[in-house]
Amino acid sequence: MKVLLIGSGGREHALARALEASASVSYLCAAPGNAGIAEHAELLDLDPADMDGIAAFAKAEGIGLVVIGPEAPLVAGLADVLEAAGVPAFGPSAAAARLEGSKGFTKDICARYGIPTAAYARFTDAGAAKAYIRAQGAPIVVKADGLAAGKGVVVAMTEAEALEAVDEMLGGRFGSAGASLVIEEFMEGEEASLFALSDGTTAILLGTAQDHKRVGDGDTGPNTGGMGAYSPAPCMTPEITGRAMTEIVQRTVDAMAAEGTPFVGVLYAGLMLTKDGPKLVEYNVRFGDPETQVLLPRLWGDLAQILLAARDGRLDPSMIELDPRTALTVVLAAKGYPGDYAKGDEIRGLDAARAAAPEVIVFHAGTKTDDAGRLLSNGGRVLAVTALGDGPAEAQSRAYTAVDAIDWPGGFCRRDIGWRAVG
Ligand code: ATP
Repeated sequence: MKVLLIGSGGREHALARALEASASVSYLCAAPGNAGIAEHAELLDLDPADMDGIAAFAKAEGIGLVVIGPEAPLVAGLADVLEAAGVPAFGPSAAAARLEGSKGFTKDICARYGIPTAAYARFTDAGAAKAYIRAQGAPIVVKADGLAAGKGVVVAMTEAEALEAVDEMLGGRFGSAGASLVIEEFMEGEEASLFALSDGTTAILLGTAQDHKRVGDGDTGPNTGGMGAYSPAPCMTPEITGRAMTEIVQRTVDAMAAEGTPFVGVLYAGLMLTKDGPKLVEYNVRFGDPETQVLLPRLWGDLAQILLAARDGRLDPSMIELDPRTALTVVLAAKGYPGDYAKGDEIRGLDAARAAAPEVIVFHAGTKTDDAGRLLSNGGRVLAVTALGDGPAEAQSRAYTAVDAIDWPGGFCRRDIGWRAVG
């Protein structure tokens, strides 16, 4: 089967590596890809936003499956455009991708189908939103309804902060994504993520993970796309994972089917482990980044066959087996990230990193190669160094041994990825 992968981050490098290793894949290409993906796939000069162009290419090439990595093309309807053109696509329809694209939509689904989550109300009017905040009191959480690049959520510890967030969001800070708000109850507990694969009816666990969003050690400084992650998350005991799969994920899959918009794809549930059990914080409708860099190295089996089976509605739990070991990934970012940073720095030592410790994989995110074949930084998050180990401590030690062999003076990483799991 010929497979086309859409995206260019570390997540897509992990997907490319696993797809290339799939016995069912005879040819792999990627648009637009990066320097790491180029080691597994032919890179195409196609813009993921050009949905008709992608569909025309896939049809002409006889592509048997398109795997869509990022959320933007999913929410824009790339899977629908491909399927309408007769090209099998892995990823939810735009209607099902509303689980990520509209927080209000998801909260309404939760309310209607008894899915555990924070109590909430939706607003488009500032006066009504403020009256609700004053009645509820702080702490309280204010969210822009649409996609806001991870910046559309304010966890307000005071009423004043919450009121200010209302003015900012309804005032247009996030454009149309903030024209409607969800205001919800503050939940307390440890956060973890659960990834499931759904074929529209059946949901199967792909793994659990925890990530590190803040840029600095000790979870300090501004939020980022993610500075590291590990899988499995020790706090996701079999009992909690089972509850989350039954009460949250399967109920959502059933709800979406009942609504006439079945969810086919990866359902990535952000969870809060409260004293009353796991509750949904948010859904993403795709693989996470950097979580994919720890999930896929633990997934045994032919990834392309598994994703195609999900697309075809014939997913079977026996298709998926997980490595019991821990995978941990450390993100290397350009100095200055998540603020301004330089591009075009040379990076050396990737082979040394792979040789420095057993079971190491170096994933590329923002990288490119120049005409002389040198590897250059080309983004904020640049590499993700993953290691497998018998438990979090061994995976962590191997990952940092590999990181320390990389020669990139313009880069940095957190030194404490996995602290919660290592203890
Ligand atoms: P992401 O970048 O993870 O996709 P997002 O902008 O889609 O983020 P959420 O995940 O909904 O937003 O919220 C971001 C963070 O805010 C959560 O990871 C969590 O730490 C915190 N948060 C959100 N909702 C609540 C809540 N009801 N109670 C407590 N904390 C919350």
